[in-house]
Amino acid sequence: MESVESFRARAREWLASALPRLGAPAADQGGAGDDDEDWDRARELQQRLHAGGFAGIAFPAEYGGLGLAGEHQKAFTEESAGYEMPLLLNVPTFSICAATILDCGTEEQKRDRIAAAIRGDEVFVQFLSEPRGGSDLAGVITRAERDGDVWVLNGAKIWSSSAYAADWALCLARTDWTAPKHRGLTMFLMKVHQPGVTIRRIRQVNGSTEFCEEFFDDVILPADAVVGEVNGGWAVASRQLFHERMAVGGGSPYVSGQGQRSRIGVSRDFLALARSAGRAADPRVRELIGESRAMHRVHEQLIDRISGAIASGQMPGPAGSITRLFHAEVEWKDADIGVEIAGSAAVTDPLGAAGPGQYGQHFLSRQSSSLGGGSTEMARNIISERLLGMPREFAADRDVPFSEVRQGRS
Ligand SMILES: Cc1cc2nc3c(=O)[nH]c(=O)nc-3n(C[C@H](O)[C@H](O)[C@H](O)COP(=O)(O)OP(=O)(O)OC[C@H]3O[C@@H](n4cnc5c(N)ncnc54)[C@H](O)[C@@H]3O)c2cc1C
Repeated sequence: MESVESFRARAREWLASALPRLGAPAADQGGAGDDDEDWDRARELQQRLHAGGFAGIAFPAEYGGLGLAGEHQKAFTEESAGYEMPLLLNVPTFSICAATILDCGTEEQKRDRIAAAIRGDEVFVQFLSEPRGGSDLAGVITRAERDGDVWVLNGAKIWSSSAYAADWALCLARTDWTAPKHRGLTMFLMKVHQPGVTIRRIRQVNGSTEFCEEFFDDVILPADAVVGEVNGGWAVASRQLFHERMAVGGGSPYVSGQGQRSRIGVSRDFLALARSAGRAADPRVRELIGESRAMHRVHEQLIDRISGAIASGQMPGPAGSITRLFHAEVEWKDADIGVEIAGSAAVTDPLGAAGPGQYGQHFLSRQSSSLGGGSTEMARNIISERLLGMPREFAADRDVPFSEVRQGRS
């Protein structure tokens, strides 16, 4: 295997010749994923990475990757700071969906889908959450029924990030209503755009229309759409949630480039903000800047410590909930600090990439970091039950056939 230093040197040279330099901070790059243009651009950049031999760094070579280590990916990510990268593809395409297919998919699914994503030809989405709630994932009521050689899918999903722009989805559906809730589920790898699938875009308070909801009416899925075992979907979903926690909390070896896509590109340069607001000498403001920097430093250290411990087996997979939780804490803190330093300009200034108005707009989506990737309350449950060994939460529906579980007001 090529040494990390040699790989880093090659990457540095290639990046300078092949990718556009960013004028703005890395957090501002790549668009929010609201437009087809953002996605076309991400696919194009991914195709450039692939042509240059720097795509899918930590994915195995037999599925289109480079078969290198997480350290190589980390070196590439460091070198790529300051260049335009296809960050939109990091989450969920590579770090969650492709990673889950790699762990649980058939040879064909791995060969076809992972390789297509690495080439920049395909984008993936997660069809997990439903209108009845996302935290109780094992309680999904979207159903798939066997009909001869195929499955017939009916139901609805919601909060699917950029489903409109995606090609394939990992969709969790109930396939056995007589089994207790965790044991009657199957994961399907399905085409997003096909007969019977209706996609609607959801407008959020900040104007974003990136979230989607989907309705399935007699969607036909071939038998080979199943990922893992029929009625063994909870094992696949659990793996997917593991990768989601790693992706959201930081520490996934499949994320390439600095940061995830930014729903709203907001600069974290609070010193620049304080200077432009004429408040750089204010002791309270200086304290806030220090607090943000300390939180980011701790987060970075935590990511290294926890992802290293999970990789070496010193900590179990659910430990990813610690970084997932801390990620939300950092995001909340930054959202609050941005508004506090910007002051009233956060809400009175016109929206723009560089002005203080961006902090007001960012504040509107402050809470999303505590829900996306599983809620922080659920992360706390996982930490208490699976890491600290505290008693499990009571669940009246645990061993009951799902058809007998009361739903809603029934
Ligand atoms: C930015 C973002 C991106 C997302 N992307 C996707 C995506 O691509 N695909 C997808 O399928 N979903 C996606 N989601 C949905 C996300 O997974 C859900 O929002 C999340 O799982 C919570 O589900 P919910 O919103 O339905 O809240 P609910 O499950 O209804 O929960 C409501 C509140 O009750 C709390 N709660 C629920 N159960 C418990 C419990 N047992 N103990 C303690 N507290 C509890 C929750 O923490 C939450 O605060 C995304 C969400 C966001 C914000």
